[in-house]
Amino acid sequence: MAKKQILFECQACGHQSAKWLGKCPNCGAWDEYIELSQNQIEVLKEINSKPSSTQGNAIPITEVRFEQIERYSSGDNELDLVLGGGIVQGSLTLIGGSPGVGKSTLLLKIAGNLAREGKKSSLCKWRRVF
Ligand SMILES: [Zn+2]
Repeated sequence: MAKKQILFECQACGHQSAKWLGKCPNCGAWDEYIELSQNQIEVLKEINSKPSSTQGNAIPITEVRFEQIERYSSGDNELDLVLGGGIVQGSLTLIGGSPGVGKSTLLLKIAGNLAREGKKSSLCKWRRVF
């Protein structure tokens, strides 16, 4: 049977230690160490075992390719402005806010605008999540 590994991690900076420490030697924060579960330790081992070639490499900004993305107007100029020019097909937009601020009203208005313009439902799939 494998020996249970115990690992503690500073919640402020991510420094790890085999023993619980009151003060982090890396960032100096107090009482930030928590014990990692066995699942978390296994995930960390898996991440650290992957070769670095699987990670993305940095490229100069001059080599970044532009792609023209087609956008559809929501029928609401302010929302189009916030979305960077309109709704991108296949994109996901999270509409958040406190209760009663008008999220549902805004989405109903947009749905009405799109329906009036005859956009297909495949263009825009709205889903209300609570
Ligand atoms: Zn720390």
